[in-house]
Amino acid sequence: MFKFFKDKLKGVVDSIKKGVEEEVETKEVKINTNKVNTISKKKETTKTNVSTKKKKEKKETKKEVLKKEIKIEKKEEEKKVEENADKEIPEEEKESFFKKIFKKKEDSEKENIEEELTNKKEEKDSKKGVSVFKKITEKITKFDLSEERFEDLFWQLEVTLLENNVAVEVIDKIKKDLKEELTTGKIYRKGVEELINETLKKSIEEVLSVESFDLIKKVKKKKPFVIAFIGINGSGKTTTMAKTASLFKNNNLKVAFAASDTFRAAAIHQLEVHADKLGVKMIKHDYNADPAAVAFDAIEHAKAKGLDVVMIDTAGRLHSNTNLMEELKKIIRVNKPDLKIFVGESITGNDCVEQAKVYDEIVGIDAIILAKADVDEKGGAAISVSYITKKPILYLGTGQNYDDLKKFNKNIMIKNLGL
Ligand code: GDP
Ligand code: GDP
Repeated sequence: MFKFFKDKLKGVVDSIKKGVEEEVETKEVKINTNKVNTISKKKETTKTNVSTKKKKEKKETKKEVLKKEIKIEKKEEEKKVEENADKEIPEEEKESFFKKIFKKKEDSEKENIEEELTNKKEEKDSKKGVSVFKKITEKITKFDLSEERFEDLFWQLEVTLLENNVAVEVIDKIKKDLKEELTTGKIYRKGVEELINETLKKSIEEVLSVESFDLIKKVKKKKPFVIAFIGINGSGKTTTMAKTASLFKNNNLKVAFAASDTFRAAAIHQLEVHADKLGVKMIKHDYNADPAAVAFDAIEHAKAKGLDVVMIDTAGRLHSNTNLMEELKKIIRVNKPDLKIFVGESITGNDCVEQAKVYDEIVGIDAIILAKADVDEKGGAAISVSYITKKPILYLGTGQNYDDLKKFNKNIMIKNLGL
């Protein structure tokens, strides 16, 4: 599930991360170059400064050499001491040896004082603004991307999201969130990848955070509880309805089917096969009968027999067909279902989101089940449909068996995307 999207996302995050890091490098180099430029400008104007600096540099190199020499000598002498430990050292040699040691101590003390003076001078200079090192470090650790560069880098992610059927509105939100993080001085040199991943995760979490409910609990609150299943032909509506009926049965709820898809003779037969398998009572009329009347009869039957749930199968129709939408409106108007579940086909991506939107505008949907998520390598519909309609996804259809209906969990979804 969603593997293609996951792999693509990983690749593009990697690439954005590299882009951002390169940008940090460039900026760092630029700042350093600027620093050199300022120094050389200062060199031109204040020659005395230059000579002092040069002298200081010379002094420093001299100091370095001296330090190294002392270190080597010390090592050699320590070695000698060890070698001669049990030998007796002649008095004068001893003297010269200690003399040497004390002389070096004097030298190093002198050196320390010199060093301290230089440090103090540098500190003074820095206060005057000569040294910009501190400022550079700050700028590099808290770095922000220019808007133009952000647009450049985001483009790859935008293409990936579009390619994986993520709705434009969702892409806009992800873009806004990422821009907020990457262009306002929040980038730390290390952790660019975490910042991008965390932001993406948070955006998608928010996109998926639509108030939901527990279907079983809800159904148990009213008797009979009436649910209409709506959506276009072939989306998996009938199979999903049968899977949901199986779930109800496992929760000790007695179910009746209304075969309100009277448009296709095969549809009635298809539902009947499921009803027989599941041991569910199905109310049917003839082919081409009024679907609203079939649902009405099923509800009456449930009331008379004390059944818990009535599930209305409606004919699939294209949302652009206004006549058929009028007929669906009639089913809803006459039977006032407690819940209208839109069944969408996960793999159709943006089309599925668009259908859900139109169905919601015309008859009002309460929740969504996305069928065929098991064969969807992209996942854009699952990410987008709730954000666009503000209606929760209750379940994902994950196969053709009755128990292939998984409760939708945004955390699992996010995990599936590798975030
Ligand atoms: P309807 O026309 O909307 O009622 O769609 P159907 O219920 O007849 O389903 C159309 C096809 O999709 C059938 O072959 C189903 O077996 C298949 N199908 C339905 N749900 C799923 C699912 O979650 N996963 C897979 N892989 N196939 C499904
Ligand atoms: P068209 O594309 O607008 O010509 O409509 P269709 O070819 O999809 O449907 C032809 C006729 O079948 C329409 O006049 C509808 O009234 C009818 N029809 C379509 N769907 C249904 C349905 O779900 N139930 C019933 N009873 N009739 C339907």
